[in-house]
Amino acid sequence: MEEISAQFPILQTRAHGRPLVYLDSAASTQQPEAVIRAVSDYHRHHHANIHRGVYQLSQTATHLYEDARARVAGFLGAAEPAECIFTSGTTAAINLVASAWGRASLAPGDEIILSVLEHHSNIVPWQLAAEASGARIKVIPINDAGELDLDAYRALLSPRTRIVAINHVSNALGTINPVREIIAEAHAAGALVLIDGAQWVAHGPVDVQALDADFYAFSGHKLYGPTGIGVLYGKRRLLETMPPYQGGGDMIERVTFARTTYAPLPNKFEAGTPHISGAVGLAAAIDWIETIGLERIGAHEQSLLRHTTGRLAEIPGLELKGTAREKSAVVSWVMVDPPIATLDVATQLDLAGVCIRTGHHCCQPLMDRLGVSSTARASMGVYNRKEDIDRLADGLAEITSAALKRSRASVAHIVPEPTPDVLYPAAVAQSPEAAAEEIVELFAFLPDWPMRHQHIIDLGDQLPVMPASLKSAANAVSGCQSTVHIAARLKPGTDDVIEFLADSDANIVRGLIALLQQLYSGQPARAILDFDAEALFARIGLDENLSMTRRNGLASMIQRLKQLAQQSAG
Ligand code: PMP
Repeated sequence: MEEISAQFPILQTRAHGRPLVYLDSAASTQQPEAVIRAVSDYHRHHHANIHRGVYQLSQTATHLYEDARARVAGFLGAAEPAECIFTSGTTAAINLVASAWGRASLAPGDEIILSVLEHHSNIVPWQLAAEASGARIKVIPINDAGELDLDAYRALLSPRTRIVAINHVSNALGTINPVREIIAEAHAAGALVLIDGAQWVAHGPVDVQALDADFYAFSGHKLYGPTGIGVLYGKRRLLETMPPYQGGGDMIERVTFARTTYAPLPNKFEAGTPHISGAVGLAAAIDWIETIGLERIGAHEQSLLRHTTGRLAEIPGLELKGTAREKSAVVSWVMVDPPIATLDVATQLDLAGVCIRTGHHCCQPLMDRLGVSSTARASMGVYNRKEDIDRLADGLAEITSAALKRSRASVAHIVPEPTPDVLYPAAVAQSPEAAAEEIVELFAFLPDWPMRHQHIIDLGDQLPVMPASLKSAANAVSGCQSTVHIAARLKPGTDDVIEFLADSDANIVRGLIALLQQLYSGQPARAILDFDAEALFARIGLDENLSMTRRNGLASMIQRLKQLAQQSAG
Protein backbone atom coordinates (compact mmCIF):
# COMPACT_ATOMS: atom_id res chain seq x y z
CA MET A 1 0.00 0.00 0.00
CA GLU A 2 2.93 2.30 0.73
CA GLU A 3 3.83 2.41 -2.97
CA ILE A 4 0.40 3.18 -4.34
CA SER A 5 0.77 6.95 -4.16
CA ALA A 6 3.62 6.70 -6.70
CA GLN A 7 0.97 5.81 -9.31
CA PHE A 8 -0.69 9.22 -8.90
CA PRO A 9 1.17 11.92 -10.85
CA ILE A 10 -0.50 14.76 -8.95
CA LEU A 11 0.71 13.37 -5.62
CA GLN A 12 4.30 13.83 -6.80
CA THR A 13 3.77 17.59 -7.08
CA ARG A 14 4.37 20.29 -4.47
CA ALA A 15 2.08 22.90 -2.95
CA HIS A 16 3.62 26.14 -1.65
CA GLY A 17 7.01 24.46 -1.84
CA ARG A 18 5.99 21.43 0.27
CA PRO A 19 5.16 17.91 -0.93
CA LEU A 20 1.41 17.84 -1.51
CA VAL A 21 -0.70 16.09 1.13
CA TYR A 22 -4.14 15.42 -0.28
CA LEU A 23 -6.84 14.81 2.32
CA ASP A 24 -9.97 15.70 0.38
CA SER A 25 -10.86 12.40 -1.26
CA ALA A 26 -14.48 12.61 -0.11
CA ALA A 27 -14.84 15.63 -2.41
CA SER A 28 -12.91 14.05 -5.29
CA THR A 29 -10.29 11.35 -5.43
CA GLN A 30 -7.16 11.82 -7.52
CA GLN A 31 -6.63 9.71 -10.62
CA PRO A 32 -3.93 7.08 -11.09
CA GLU A 33 -1.78 6.94 -14.21
CA ALA A 34 -3.85 3.96 -15.46
CA VAL A 35 -7.04 6.08 -15.57
CA ILE A 36 -5.33 9.12 -17.08
CA ARG A 37 -3.79 6.88 -19.76
CA ALA A 38 -7.06 5.11 -20.57
CA VAL A 39 -8.86 8.44 -21.11
CA SER A 40 -5.97 9.84 -23.13
CA ASP A 41 -5.71 6.68 -25.28
CA TYR A 42 -9.40 6.87 -25.95
CA HIS A 43 -9.07 10.47 -27.16
CA ARG A 44 -5.96 9.74 -29.19
CA HIS A 45 -7.07 6.52 -30.87
CA HIS A 46 -10.74 5.66 -30.50
CA HIS A 47 -13.01 8.68 -30.22
CA ALA A 48 -16.20 8.84 -32.29
CA ASN A 49 -19.87 9.18 -31.44
CA ILE A 50 -21.41 5.90 -30.30
CA HIS A 51 -24.37 3.74 -31.31
CA ARG A 52 -24.67 5.54 -34.65
CA GLY A 53 -21.76 5.14 -37.06
CA VAL A 54 -21.23 2.02 -39.13
CA TYR A 55 -17.55 2.84 -39.49
CA GLN A 56 -14.98 0.97 -37.44
CA LEU A 57 -14.06 3.88 -35.17
CA SER A 58 -17.65 4.38 -34.03
CA GLN A 59 -18.04 0.64 -33.49
CA THR A 60 -14.91 0.59 -31.34
CA ALA A 61 -16.07 3.59 -29.28
CA THR A 62 -19.48 1.92 -28.81
CA HIS A 63 -17.80 -1.27 -27.73
CA LEU A 64 -15.63 0.59 -25.19
CA TYR A 65 -18.65 2.42 -23.78
CA GLU A 66 -20.81 -0.70 -23.48
CA ASP A 67 -17.90 -2.67 -22.10
CA ALA A 68 -17.56 0.01 -19.40
CA ARG A 69 -21.22 -0.55 -18.52
CA ALA A 70 -20.61 -4.28 -18.20
CA ARG A 71 -17.67 -3.57 -15.87
CA VAL A 72 -19.87 -1.30 -13.73
CA ALA A 73 -22.52 -4.03 -13.55
CA GLY A 74 -19.92 -6.52 -12.36
CA PHE A 75 -18.55 -4.01 -9.85
CA LEU A 76 -22.02 -3.39 -8.34
CA GLY A 77 -23.21 -6.98 -8.56
CA ALA A 78 -26.12 -5.95 -10.82
CA ALA A 79 -28.10 -8.69 -12.54
CA GLU A 80 -27.35 -7.19 -15.97
CA PRO A 81 -25.56 -4.19 -17.54
CA ALA A 82 -28.86 -2.66 -18.76
CA GLU A 83 -29.73 -1.92 -15.12
CA CYS A 84 -26.73 0.47 -14.97
CA ILE A 85 -27.52 3.89 -16.41
CA PHE A 86 -24.63 6.27 -17.04
CA THR A 87 -25.32 9.73 -15.63
CA SER A 88 -23.13 12.73 -14.97
CA GLY A 89 -22.81 11.74 -11.30
CA THR A 90 -24.67 10.94 -8.11
CA THR A 91 -26.60 14.21 -8.25
CA ALA A 92 -27.92 13.49 -11.73
CA ALA A 93 -28.74 9.89 -10.75
CA ILE A 94 -30.83 10.97 -7.74
CA ASN A 95 -32.55 13.69 -9.78
CA LEU A 96 -33.39 11.08 -12.39
CA VAL A 97 -35.18 8.88 -9.85
CA ALA A 98 -36.83 11.74 -7.94
CA SER A 99 -38.09 13.24 -11.16
CA ALA A 100 -38.99 10.26 -13.38
CA TRP A 101 -40.07 7.77 -10.72
CA GLY A 102 -41.52 10.59 -8.59
CA ARG A 103 -43.64 11.92 -11.47
CA ALA A 104 -45.20 8.51 -12.10
CA SER A 105 -45.43 7.21 -8.56
CA LEU A 106 -45.93 9.97 -5.98
CA ALA A 107 -49.34 11.30 -5.01
CA PRO A 108 -50.62 13.73 -2.36
CA GLY A 109 -50.22 12.24 1.12
CA ASP A 110 -47.40 9.87 0.09
CA GLU A 111 -44.26 10.02 2.20
CA ILE A 112 -40.57 10.12 1.37
CA ILE A 113 -38.10 9.29 4.15
CA LEU A 114 -34.68 10.97 4.18
CA SER A 115 -32.18 11.43 7.01
CA VAL A 116 -30.46 14.36 8.73
CA LEU A 117 -27.18 13.01 7.33
CA GLU A 118 -28.08 13.61 3.69
CA HIS A 119 -26.12 15.63 1.18
CA HIS A 120 -28.16 18.39 -0.47
CA SER A 121 -28.23 16.27 -3.62
CA ASN A 122 -30.29 13.69 -1.73
CA ILE A 123 -32.60 16.34 -0.26
CA VAL A 124 -33.39 18.98 -2.84
CA PRO A 125 -34.45 16.62 -5.68
CA TRP A 126 -36.96 15.06 -3.24
CA GLN A 127 -38.21 18.48 -2.19
CA LEU A 128 -38.85 19.25 -5.84
CA ALA A 129 -40.63 15.90 -6.27
CA ALA A 130 -42.66 16.52 -3.11
CA GLU A 131 -43.68 19.99 -4.29
CA ALA A 132 -44.76 18.63 -7.66
CA SER A 133 -46.76 15.72 -6.24
CA GLY A 134 -48.05 16.82 -2.86
CA ALA A 135 -45.97 14.13 -1.13
CA ARG A 136 -44.39 14.84 2.26
CA ILE A 137 -40.81 14.44 3.49
CA LYS A 138 -40.03 12.77 6.83
CA VAL A 139 -36.56 12.91 8.31
CA ILE A 140 -34.73 10.26 10.35
CA PRO A 141 -32.90 11.95 13.26
CA ILE A 142 -29.40 11.11 14.47
CA ASN A 143 -27.80 10.74 17.88
CA ASP A 144 -24.92 12.95 19.05
CA ALA A 145 -22.37 10.53 17.62
CA GLY A 146 -23.87 11.05 14.16
CA GLU A 147 -25.61 7.66 13.92
CA LEU A 148 -29.11 7.22 12.53
CA ASP A 149 -31.80 6.64 15.13
CA LEU A 150 -33.18 3.36 13.82
CA ASP A 151 -36.08 3.26 16.28
CA ALA A 152 -37.19 6.64 14.99
CA TYR A 153 -36.80 5.30 11.44
CA ARG A 154 -39.08 2.34 12.20
CA ALA A 155 -41.61 4.71 13.70
CA LEU A 156 -41.58 6.85 10.54
CA LEU A 157 -42.21 3.90 8.21
CA SER A 158 -45.89 3.45 7.37
CA PRO A 159 -48.13 2.32 4.52
CA ARG A 160 -47.81 5.90 3.22
CA THR A 161 -44.03 5.58 2.82
CA ARG A 162 -43.21 5.24 -0.86
CA ILE A 163 -39.45 5.59 -0.85
CA VAL A 164 -36.54 5.82 1.59
CA ALA A 165 -33.51 7.70 0.21
CA ILE A 166 -30.44 7.42 2.37
CA ASN A 167 -26.69 7.60 2.01
CA HIS A 168 -24.50 4.57 2.48
CA VAL A 169 -21.85 6.75 4.13
CA SER A 170 -22.15 10.35 5.33
CA ASN A 171 -19.77 12.65 3.46
CA ALA A 172 -19.61 15.12 6.35
CA LEU A 173 -19.12 12.72 9.29
CA GLY A 174 -18.09 9.40 7.76
CA THR A 175 -20.89 7.45 9.49
CA ILE A 176 -21.46 4.13 7.72
CA ASN A 177 -25.19 3.48 7.74
CA PRO A 178 -26.71 0.00 8.21
CA VAL A 179 -28.18 0.04 4.71
CA ARG A 180 -28.99 -3.67 4.58
CA GLU A 181 -31.22 -3.33 7.64
CA ILE A 182 -32.72 -0.06 6.39
CA ILE A 183 -33.62 -1.66 3.07
CA ALA A 184 -35.13 -4.75 4.69
CA GLU A 185 -37.32 -2.64 6.99
CA ALA A 186 -38.46 -0.39 4.14
CA HIS A 187 -39.36 -3.39 2.00
CA ALA A 188 -41.32 -4.89 4.85
CA ALA A 189 -43.33 -1.65 4.90
CA GLY A 190 -43.84 -1.81 1.13
CA ALA A 191 -41.46 1.09 0.31
CA LEU A 192 -38.61 1.31 -2.19
CA VAL A 193 -35.06 2.35 -1.25
CA LEU A 194 -32.53 4.52 -3.02
CA ILE A 195 -28.99 4.35 -1.67
CA ASP A 196 -26.65 7.27 -2.30
CA GLY A 197 -23.41 5.33 -2.54
CA ALA A 198 -21.16 8.31 -3.43
CA GLN A 199 -19.06 7.89 -0.30
CA TRP A 200 -18.99 4.12 -0.13
CA VAL A 201 -18.01 2.60 -3.47
CA ALA A 202 -14.30 3.51 -3.20
CA HIS A 203 -14.02 2.16 0.32
CA GLY A 204 -15.70 -1.23 0.40
CA PRO A 205 -17.41 -3.81 -1.78
CA VAL A 206 -21.02 -3.36 -2.80
CA ASP A 207 -23.49 -5.97 -4.01
CA VAL A 208 -26.77 -4.36 -4.97
CA GLN A 209 -28.52 -7.72 -5.28
CA ALA A 210 -27.39 -8.94 -1.88
CA LEU A 211 -28.46 -5.58 -0.39
CA ASP A 212 -31.69 -5.76 -2.40
CA ALA A 213 -31.31 -2.02 -3.16
CA ASP A 214 -33.92 -0.71 -5.58
CA PHE A 215 -31.70 2.15 -6.73
CA TYR A 216 -28.00 2.78 -6.04
CA ALA A 217 -26.12 5.91 -7.16
CA PHE A 218 -22.44 6.84 -7.29
CA SER A 219 -19.95 9.19 -8.98
CA GLY A 220 -16.79 8.30 -10.90
CA HIS A 221 -14.74 11.15 -9.46
CA LYS A 222 -14.94 9.74 -5.95
CA LEU A 223 -13.74 6.35 -7.25
CA TYR A 224 -10.38 7.36 -8.76
CA GLY A 225 -12.17 8.01 -12.07
CA PRO A 226 -13.01 11.13 -14.09
CA THR A 227 -15.53 13.84 -13.24
CA GLY A 228 -18.81 14.16 -15.12
CA ILE A 229 -19.56 10.43 -15.09
CA GLY A 230 -21.61 8.45 -12.61
CA VAL A 231 -24.06 5.61 -12.42
CA LEU A 232 -27.63 4.96 -11.46
CA TYR A 233 -28.32 1.32 -10.79
CA GLY A 234 -32.02 0.42 -10.80
CA LYS A 235 -33.90 -2.85 -10.78
CA ARG A 236 -35.12 -3.63 -14.29
CA ARG A 237 -38.79 -3.88 -13.35
CA LEU A 238 -38.67 -0.40 -11.81
CA LEU A 239 -36.69 1.26 -14.58
CA GLU A 240 -39.02 -0.26 -17.16
CA THR A 241 -42.14 1.21 -15.63
CA MET A 242 -40.60 4.66 -15.11
CA PRO A 243 -41.16 7.37 -17.74
CA PRO A 244 -38.02 8.83 -19.36
CA TYR A 245 -36.22 11.60 -17.49
CA GLN A 246 -34.99 13.60 -20.47
CA GLY A 247 -35.97 13.38 -24.11
CA GLY A 248 -33.59 13.50 -27.05
CA GLY A 249 -31.45 11.43 -29.36
CA ASP A 250 -30.59 7.83 -28.55
CA MET A 251 -33.44 7.32 -26.09
CA ILE A 252 -36.14 6.72 -28.68
CA GLU A 253 -37.42 3.83 -30.71
CA ARG A 254 -39.59 5.81 -33.14
CA VAL A 255 -40.50 9.49 -33.24
CA THR A 256 -43.47 11.03 -35.03
CA PHE A 257 -45.15 14.29 -34.19
CA ALA A 258 -48.17 12.27 -33.14
CA ARG A 259 -46.37 9.88 -30.79
CA THR A 260 -42.91 8.77 -29.69
CA THR A 261 -41.95 5.37 -28.41
CA TYR A 262 -38.87 4.85 -26.29
CA ALA A 263 -35.76 2.74 -26.60
CA PRO A 264 -35.31 -0.22 -24.27
CA LEU A 265 -33.04 -0.03 -21.22
CA PRO A 266 -30.53 1.45 -20.68
CA ASN A 267 -30.87 3.89 -23.62
CA LYS A 268 -34.28 5.12 -22.48
CA PHE A 269 -32.49 7.02 -19.72
CA GLU A 270 -29.45 8.18 -21.69
CA ALA A 271 -30.70 10.96 -23.95
CA GLY A 272 -28.05 12.68 -26.06
CA THR A 273 -24.36 11.95 -26.57
CA PRO A 274 -23.02 10.62 -23.28
CA HIS A 275 -19.65 11.17 -21.59
CA ILE A 276 -17.94 8.36 -23.53
CA SER A 277 -14.39 9.03 -22.37
CA GLY A 278 -15.71 9.36 -18.81
CA ALA A 279 -17.21 5.86 -19.01
CA VAL A 280 -13.91 4.55 -20.38
CA GLY A 281 -12.03 6.24 -17.52
CA LEU A 282 -14.51 4.88 -14.97
CA ALA A 283 -14.01 1.34 -16.27
CA ALA A 284 -10.24 1.82 -16.00
CA ALA A 285 -10.69 3.06 -12.42
CA ILE A 286 -12.77 0.01 -11.54
CA ASP A 287 -10.13 -2.29 -13.07
CA TRP A 288 -7.42 -0.47 -11.13
CA ILE A 289 -9.32 -0.74 -7.83
CA GLU A 290 -10.02 -4.41 -8.41
CA THR A 291 -6.32 -5.15 -8.86
CA ILE A 292 -5.77 -3.86 -5.31
CA GLY A 293 -9.02 -5.16 -3.83
CA LEU A 294 -11.58 -3.16 -1.88
CA GLU A 295 -11.09 -5.24 1.27
CA ARG A 296 -7.41 -4.24 1.37
CA ILE A 297 -8.26 -0.63 0.62
CA GLY A 298 -10.84 -0.61 3.41
CA ALA A 299 -8.41 -2.12 5.92
CA HIS A 300 -5.70 0.40 5.01
CA GLU A 301 -8.11 3.29 5.41
CA GLN A 302 -9.39 2.00 8.74
CA SER A 303 -5.85 1.97 10.04
CA LEU A 304 -5.39 5.56 8.82
CA LEU A 305 -8.67 6.49 10.52
CA ARG A 306 -7.43 5.11 13.85
CA HIS A 307 -4.15 6.98 13.47
CA THR A 308 -5.96 10.23 12.60
CA THR A 309 -8.40 9.95 15.48
CA GLY A 310 -5.49 9.37 17.86
CA ARG A 311 -3.38 12.25 16.55
CA LEU A 312 -6.26 14.74 16.50
CA ALA A 313 -7.18 13.80 20.08
CA GLU A 314 -3.80 15.28 21.09
CA ILE A 315 -4.68 18.73 19.70
CA PRO A 316 -5.97 21.01 22.48
CA GLY A 317 -9.32 22.63 21.80
CA LEU A 318 -10.18 20.33 18.89
CA GLU A 319 -13.67 18.82 19.00
CA LEU A 320 -14.47 15.88 16.74
CA LYS A 321 -17.84 15.89 15.01
CA GLY A 322 -19.08 12.41 14.20
CA THR A 323 -17.93 9.58 16.42
CA ALA A 324 -20.06 6.75 15.08
CA ARG A 325 -18.96 3.20 15.86
CA GLU A 326 -18.95 2.37 12.13
CA LYS A 327 -17.02 5.05 10.27
CA SER A 328 -15.22 5.40 6.98
CA ALA A 329 -11.96 7.37 6.84
CA VAL A 330 -13.58 10.80 7.12
CA VAL A 331 -12.79 13.00 10.12
CA SER A 332 -14.65 16.24 10.81
CA TRP A 333 -13.85 18.70 13.55
CA VAL A 334 -14.14 22.24 14.86
CA MET A 335 -11.61 24.22 16.91
CA VAL A 336 -13.40 25.50 19.98
CA ASP A 337 -10.82 26.65 22.50
CA PRO A 338 -9.49 29.01 21.38
CA PRO A 339 -12.12 29.26 18.64
CA ILE A 340 -10.47 29.19 15.21
CA ALA A 341 -12.65 29.58 12.12
CA THR A 342 -12.52 26.50 9.90
CA LEU A 343 -11.73 28.74 6.94
CA ASP A 344 -8.56 29.93 8.72
CA VAL A 345 -7.63 26.35 9.58
CA ALA A 346 -7.90 25.26 5.94
CA THR A 347 -6.15 28.35 4.58
CA GLN A 348 -3.21 27.87 6.92
CA LEU A 349 -2.98 24.14 6.28
CA ASP A 350 -2.92 24.91 2.56
CA LEU A 351 0.15 27.08 3.14
CA ALA A 352 1.73 23.98 4.70
CA GLY A 353 0.84 21.95 1.58
CA VAL A 354 -2.07 20.09 3.23
CA CYS A 355 -5.42 20.03 1.40
CA ILE A 356 -8.51 19.60 3.55
CA ARG A 357 -12.09 20.74 3.07
CA THR A 358 -14.07 23.17 5.18
CA GLY A 359 -17.63 24.40 5.03
CA HIS A 360 -21.05 22.84 5.36
CA HIS A 361 -20.13 20.01 2.96
CA CYS A 362 -23.50 20.48 1.24
CA CYS A 363 -25.15 19.23 4.45
CA GLN A 364 -26.71 22.35 5.97
CA PRO A 365 -29.47 20.48 7.85
CA LEU A 366 -26.78 18.29 9.42
CA MET A 367 -24.70 21.37 10.38
CA ASP A 368 -27.84 22.85 12.00
CA ARG A 369 -28.30 19.63 13.98
CA LEU A 370 -24.67 19.75 15.11
CA GLY A 371 -25.01 23.42 16.01
CA VAL A 372 -22.15 24.58 13.78
CA SER A 373 -22.05 26.44 10.48
CA SER A 374 -19.13 24.45 9.14
CA THR A 375 -16.54 21.85 10.03
CA ALA A 376 -13.02 21.13 8.88
CA ARG A 377 -12.83 17.70 7.25
CA ALA A 378 -9.96 15.41 6.32
CA SER A 379 -10.94 12.46 4.16
CA MET A 380 -8.61 9.70 3.12
CA GLY A 381 -8.06 7.51 0.13
CA VAL A 382 -5.99 4.50 -0.81
CA TYR A 383 -2.92 6.66 -1.49
CA ASN A 384 -2.69 8.33 1.93
CA ARG A 385 -0.02 7.33 4.42
CA LYS A 386 0.50 7.86 8.11
CA GLU A 387 3.02 10.58 7.26
CA ASP A 388 0.19 12.56 5.61
CA ILE A 389 -1.80 12.41 8.83
CA ASP A 390 1.26 13.47 10.80
CA ARG A 391 1.69 16.51 8.52
CA LEU A 392 -1.98 17.38 9.17
CA ALA A 393 -1.66 16.95 12.94
CA ASP A 394 1.62 18.89 13.10
CA GLY A 395 0.05 21.71 11.06
CA LEU A 396 -2.96 21.80 13.37
CA ALA A 397 -0.75 21.86 16.45
CA GLU A 398 1.10 24.89 15.04
CA ILE A 399 -2.13 26.70 14.17
CA THR A 400 -3.50 26.06 17.65
CA SER A 401 -0.41 27.24 19.47
CA ALA A 402 -0.28 30.44 17.36
CA ALA A 403 -3.98 31.05 18.09
CA LEU A 404 -3.42 30.49 21.80
CA LYS A 405 -0.65 33.09 21.80
CA ARG A 406 -2.90 35.55 19.96
CA SER A 407 -5.81 35.01 22.32
CA ARG A 408 -3.55 35.47 25.38
CA ALA A 409 -2.23 38.70 23.87
CA SER A 410 -5.73 40.03 23.20
CA VAL A 411 -6.99 39.15 26.69
CA ALA A 412 -4.13 41.26 28.04
CA HIS A 413 -5.44 44.36 26.24
CA ILE A 414 -9.17 44.33 26.81
CA VAL A 415 -10.45 47.70 25.68
CA PRO A 416 -13.92 49.05 26.46
CA GLU A 417 -16.28 48.69 23.54
CA PRO A 418 -16.12 51.97 21.64
CA THR A 419 -19.19 53.63 20.22
CA PRO A 420 -19.76 52.81 16.59
CA ASP A 421 -20.01 56.47 15.57
CA VAL A 422 -16.33 57.02 16.14
CA LEU A 423 -15.30 53.99 14.24
CA TYR A 424 -17.01 53.92 10.86
CA PRO A 425 -14.02 54.17 8.55
CA ALA A 426 -13.73 57.30 6.43
CA ALA A 427 -12.55 57.28 2.81
CA VAL A 428 -8.85 56.53 2.38
CA ALA A 429 -8.68 57.93 -1.17
CA GLN A 430 -10.53 60.19 -3.59
CA SER A 431 -12.37 57.29 -5.21
CA PRO A 432 -12.51 53.46 -5.15
CA GLU A 433 -10.29 53.49 -8.26
CA ALA A 434 -7.64 55.58 -6.50
CA ALA A 435 -7.80 53.30 -3.43
CA ALA A 436 -7.48 50.30 -5.74
CA GLU A 437 -4.32 51.70 -7.34
CA GLU A 438 -2.73 52.01 -3.90
CA ILE A 439 -3.67 48.42 -3.09
CA VAL A 440 -2.28 47.18 -6.41
CA GLU A 441 1.00 49.02 -5.79
CA LEU A 442 1.34 47.48 -2.36
CA PHE A 443 0.55 43.97 -3.54
CA ALA A 444 3.18 44.31 -6.26
CA PHE A 445 5.73 44.06 -3.42
CA LEU A 446 4.17 40.80 -2.23
CA PRO A 447 5.11 38.30 -4.90
CA ASP A 448 3.68 35.08 -3.50
CA TRP A 449 0.59 33.83 -1.69
CA PRO A 450 2.25 33.25 1.71
CA MET A 451 3.28 36.94 1.77
CA ARG A 452 -0.10 38.17 0.54
CA HIS A 453 -1.81 35.92 3.06
CA GLN A 454 0.26 37.37 5.91
CA HIS A 455 -0.48 40.92 4.75
CA ILE A 456 -4.21 40.19 4.66
CA ILE A 457 -4.10 38.69 8.15
CA ASP A 458 -2.23 41.80 9.38
CA LEU A 459 -4.88 44.05 7.83
CA GLY A 460 -7.58 42.01 9.58
CA ASP A 461 -5.83 42.49 12.91
CA GLN A 462 -6.31 46.26 12.54
CA LEU A 463 -9.96 46.11 11.53
CA PRO A 464 -12.08 48.72 13.35
CA VAL A 465 -14.14 47.01 16.07
CA MET A 466 -17.71 46.18 15.14
CA PRO A 467 -19.86 46.47 18.27
CA ALA A 468 -21.63 43.27 19.27
CA SER A 469 -24.97 45.07 19.08
CA LEU A 470 -24.48 45.42 15.31
CA LYS A 471 -23.85 41.69 14.84
CA SER A 472 -27.54 40.97 14.47
CA ALA A 473 -29.31 38.45 12.26
CA ALA A 474 -30.39 41.29 9.97
CA ASN A 475 -26.75 42.27 9.46
CA ALA A 476 -25.54 38.71 8.74
CA VAL A 477 -24.52 37.78 5.21
CA SER A 478 -24.46 34.18 4.18
CA GLY A 479 -21.14 32.68 3.25
CA CYS A 480 -20.40 29.00 2.96
CA GLN A 481 -17.28 29.05 5.08
CA SER A 482 -17.47 31.78 7.67
CA THR A 483 -19.81 34.02 9.59
CA VAL A 484 -19.90 37.61 8.37
CA HIS A 485 -21.79 40.66 9.63
CA ILE A 486 -21.96 44.00 7.89
CA ALA A 487 -23.57 47.25 9.03
CA ALA A 488 -23.65 50.23 6.71
CA ARG A 489 -25.01 53.73 7.19
CA LEU A 490 -25.19 57.04 5.40
CA LYS A 491 -22.42 59.27 6.69
CA PRO A 492 -24.06 61.84 8.98
CA GLY A 493 -24.58 65.13 7.18
CA THR A 494 -24.53 63.55 3.68
CA ASP A 495 -27.23 61.95 1.59
CA ASP A 496 -25.14 59.60 -0.50
CA VAL A 497 -21.87 58.74 1.27
CA ILE A 498 -21.82 55.22 2.63
CA GLU A 499 -19.71 53.99 5.51
CA PHE A 500 -19.63 50.49 6.85
CA LEU A 501 -18.35 48.22 9.57
CA ALA A 502 -18.02 44.49 9.15
CA ASP A 503 -16.55 41.51 10.97
CA SER A 504 -16.07 37.78 10.59
CA ASP A 505 -15.04 34.80 12.70
CA ALA A 506 -12.32 34.06 10.12
CA ASN A 507 -9.13 36.12 10.22
CA ILE A 508 -8.65 35.82 6.48
CA VAL A 509 -12.12 37.27 5.88
CA ARG A 510 -11.39 40.09 8.34
CA GLY A 511 -8.43 41.00 6.16
CA LEU A 512 -10.58 40.97 3.05
CA ILE A 513 -13.10 43.18 4.85
CA ALA A 514 -10.29 45.64 5.55
CA LEU A 515 -9.54 45.75 1.82
CA LEU A 516 -13.22 46.34 1.05
CA GLN A 517 -13.31 49.16 3.57
CA GLN A 518 -10.32 50.80 1.88
CA LEU A 519 -12.16 50.56 -1.43
CA TYR A 520 -15.66 51.51 -0.46
CA SER A 521 -16.16 52.98 3.01
CA GLY A 522 -16.72 56.72 2.89
CA GLN A 523 -17.31 56.72 -0.87
CA PRO A 524 -20.41 58.05 -2.66
CA ALA A 525 -23.08 55.49 -3.55
CA ARG A 526 -22.61 56.02 -7.30
CA ALA A 527 -18.87 55.29 -7.06
CA ILE A 528 -19.56 52.14 -5.04
CA LEU A 529 -22.00 50.90 -7.65
CA ASP A 530 -19.55 51.55 -10.49
CA PHE A 531 -16.51 49.85 -8.98
CA ASP A 532 -15.88 46.12 -9.42
CA ALA A 533 -14.00 44.88 -6.35
CA GLU A 534 -13.93 41.28 -7.54
CA ALA A 535 -11.96 42.35 -10.62
CA LEU A 536 -9.47 44.07 -8.32
CA PHE A 537 -9.12 40.92 -6.19
CA ALA A 538 -8.35 39.00 -9.37
CA ARG A 539 -5.82 41.69 -10.38
CA ILE A 540 -3.90 41.28 -7.13
CA GLY A 541 -3.90 37.52 -7.55
CA LEU A 542 -6.31 36.62 -4.76
CA ASP A 543 -8.67 34.67 -6.97
CA GLU A 544 -6.02 31.96 -7.33
CA ASN A 545 -6.07 31.20 -3.63
CA LEU A 546 -9.53 32.24 -2.53
CA SER A 547 -12.60 31.35 -4.46
CA MET A 548 -14.34 34.68 -4.07
CA THR A 549 -17.78 33.87 -5.24
CA ARG A 550 -18.52 30.71 -3.30
CA ARG A 551 -16.37 30.37 -0.28
CA ASN A 552 -16.17 33.26 2.05
CA GLY A 553 -19.17 35.46 1.82
CA LEU A 554 -17.09 38.20 0.21
CA ALA A 555 -19.27 38.31 -2.86
CA SER A 556 -22.40 38.46 -0.68
CA MET A 557 -20.82 41.32 1.25
CA ILE A 558 -20.09 43.27 -1.92
CA GLN A 559 -23.61 42.56 -3.09
CA ARG A 560 -25.07 43.78 0.20
CA LEU A 561 -23.03 46.99 -0.01
CA LYS A 562 -24.15 47.58 -3.56
CA GLN A 563 -27.79 47.05 -2.59
CA LEU A 564 -27.41 49.70 0.09
CA ALA A 565 -25.67 52.01 -2.35
CA GLN A 566 -28.47 51.41 -4.85
CA GLN A 567 -31.08 52.41 -2.26
CA SER A 568 -29.37 55.68 -1.45
CA ALA A 569 -28.50 56.42 -5.08
CA GLY A 570 -32.26 56.26 -5.60
N1 PMP B 1 -23.96 12.39 -2.09
C1 PMP B 1 -22.90 12.38 -1.28
C2 PMP B 1 -22.96 11.62 0.01
C3 PMP B 1 -21.75 13.08 -1.65
O1 PMP B 1 -20.69 13.10 -0.85
C4 PMP B 1 -21.74 13.81 -2.87
C5 PMP B 1 -20.53 14.62 -3.29
N2 PMP B 1 -19.95 15.35 -2.27
C6 PMP B 1 -22.86 13.76 -3.67
C7 PMP B 1 -23.95 13.04 -3.25
C8 PMP B 1 -22.91 14.48 -4.98
O2 PMP B 1 -22.03 13.90 -5.88
P1 PMP B 1 -21.73 14.60 -7.28
O3 PMP B 1 -21.35 16.01 -6.98
O4 PMP B 1 -20.61 13.80 -7.84
O5 PMP B 1 -22.97 14.50 -8.10
